[in-house]
Amino acid sequence: TTTTETLGFQTEVKQLLQLMIHSLYSNKEIFLRELVSNAADAADKLRFEALTQPALLEGDSELRVRVSFDAAAHTVTIEDNGIGMTREEAIAHLGTIAKSGTGDFLRQLSGDQKKDSQLIGQFGVGFYSAFIVADQVDVYSRRAGLPADAGVRWSSRGEGEFDIATIEKTGRGTRIVLHLKDGEHDFADGWRLRGILKKYSDHIGLPIQMPKEAPAAEGEDAAPAQEWETVNRASALWTRPRSEVGDAEYTEFYKHVAHDHGDPLAWSHNKVEGKLEYTSLLYVPGRAPFDLYHREAPKGLKLYVQRVFVMDQAEQFLPLYLRFIKGVVDSNDLSLNVSREILQSGPVIDSMKSALTKRSLDMLEKLSRDKPEQYATFWKEFGQVLKEGPAEDFNNREKVAGLLRFASTRGEGDAQTVSLADYLGRMAEGQDTIYYLTGESFTQVRNSPHLEVFRKKGVEVLLLTDRIDEWLMGYLTEFDGKRFVDIARGDLDLGALESEEDKQAQESAAKDKQALVERLKTALGDDVADVRVSHRLTDSPAVLAIGEQDLGLQMRQILEASGQ
Ligand code: ADP
Ligand code: MG
Repeated sequence: TTTTETLGFQTEVKQLLQLMIHSLYSNKEIFLRELVSNAADAADKLRFEALTQPALLEGDSELRVRVSFDAAAHTVTIEDNGIGMTREEAIAHLGTIAKSGTGDFLRQLSGDQKKDSQLIGQFGVGFYSAFIVADQVDVYSRRAGLPADAGVRWSSRGEGEFDIATIEKTGRGTRIVLHLKDGEHDFADGWRLRGILKKYSDHIGLPIQMPKEAPAAEGEDAAPAQEWETVNRASALWTRPRSEVGDAEYTEFYKHVAHDHGDPLAWSHNKVEGKLEYTSLLYVPGRAPFDLYHREAPKGLKLYVQRVFVMDQAEQFLPLYLRFIKGVVDSNDLSLNVSREILQSGPVIDSMKSALTKRSLDMLEKLSRDKPEQYATFWKEFGQVLKEGPAEDFNNREKVAGLLRFASTRGEGDAQTVSLADYLGRMAEGQDTIYYLTGESFTQVRNSPHLEVFRKKGVEVLLLTDRIDEWLMGYLTEFDGKRFVDIARGDLDLGALESEEDKQAQESAAKDKQALVERLKTALGDDVADVRVSHRLTDSPAVLAIGEQDLGLQMRQILEASGQ
């Protein structure tokens, strides 16, 4: 039977549709990029499943995407012979958004179109972008391996609900018909569509075909059988030599692999030969996805083995603190039937992981050196994640430390712009340690009495106020041979920064004030561990310091908040 069922979109989908239609009007043509990107993913999935089940190819192994149009009917059609969808898959994938945290994210929308349209970049636009140009979208699909009568038709006007019906479909894969809105009819044009495909989809490693534009032969009545021609380059981008790939192509490829609507900040494309052979193409995204801190958020690289797609989100090739890196790795050493379990460890994976980690850190280092402004953007978006590095990756601690940025008493307000190299470069005569102070807010640390003596001596202090900072400093003990010292702790030893006279003055002051110290100790009793005459202060009469071995204030608060 072909009874049609009408189902409602998930609330999040309705919101996303509204947002997309209203915010992407200046860049409408991206719908084609998204639909072709999905078709290419569908071909990748089929090729992979066919490795173990060749029957899925149904004698049609030339995977391709076809884009056609009907100017009279105002339609554009995108058709693939990839994996296809079952009825259930169509309902799930084209009616809901699976990403965790989506609801929370969308509830933050301000209603301010300009701001909201920037938010959409964090989302990736995907299938629903079809509704930017179409007021009706019909999807016909059949999952590879299922009989012809197990096809599905999904149809929607993008207004809150969609129809779903079981249909007969001979060819496997998915056909999407866009009924163009009034005012968008110009998209049903061969020249225009070719231009868009060239611009956005040239890097797709699968042939994208369009009807061959043959000059109408004279005196011919019957229309000749449709001929197709490939309009893209159709070779996987990462297999091409670096010198032959332009920036625009790298950027478009990023959008395809990362499912991101925005531009990347940097990339690194490398072919490794020798004991291990693989190609990697790694990207630093331009902005953090909304679910960066969600445990189940997608992370990892797209894994290919000898150019055959094997899996998305292969997490084993990069440490967690580099989970924001996107891209592709194509190995000649792994087996095509590699599983997530096999990927867990082993000498090949271990050595690729350490090389790709180093590549990623080098790419960030280069970005910080060559494009400090873009690095500042990177730091704003991902700095907190990078701060997990020293704890997770002992071997690269120094390298990661070099990439960190801090606020400091010499910086511009609370902006995190100071690198450790900057700090070392302006250390005072005789200074051999890196001083820092942690606290809850910038205003609090900036006004801390602990800073008085440093201000007097003109010595820079790093000001750390992020939640993760104390934890970070627990793992960051030195940089370039210089120790880190928390200026709120124990007896502050200023070493060579102090002159002989300073020291003598302090000793005599300590003697003079012995009686006062005793009285304070008695008065404060068990509330304090010790009372000492300090040389930290120049203006304030007293300061609370933390013992050398005690937990920092921030850590205490974190532990208290978590009930420990
Ligand atoms: P994404 O590509 O980031 O997963 P999309 O919104 O573009 O998100 O697509 C949603 C899902 O719909 C895809 O993940 C896929 O499961 C399914 N899908 C979309 N287009 C196709 C297609 N041409 N063939 C098979 N499945 C598809
Ligand atoms: Mg997609």
